[in-house]
Amino acid sequence: MTDYYLQVLDSPSWKVRAHILKGWAGAKCEWCGSGTGLDVHHLSYHRLGAETPRELVVLCRGCHEAAHDPVRQPSRIQFLEITDRHPETFQDILEAERFEGTYL
Ligand SMILES: [Zn+2]
Ligand SMILES: [Zn+2]
Repeated sequence: MTDYYLQVLDSPSWKVRAHILKGWAGAKCEWCGSGTGLDVHHLSYHRLGAETPRELVVLCRGCHEAAHDPVRQPSRIQFLEITDRHPETFQDILEAERFEGTYL
């Protein structure tokens, strides 16, 4: 955990991105469908601070813990099947019909 990472997670723009993605996912874990304790997990840190929706996945607490456990984590390919369905940009999500969240 770098200072920059913690700074990003604490930033208003990250909170907006996380909230938009949760809204797009129907406020459900994209792995198991649970609706409680949702986090947004990074599959890539390459654009930390300016992540795109395909670098992120909405997970419940239990699935998020599994995602950080080398033994239990889903494979890269399993995650890609989820993230490939994400719109390419957050702007695309906001313009998508399916997004009904009030994000601000
Ligand atoms: Zn889950
Ligand atoms: Zn994570």
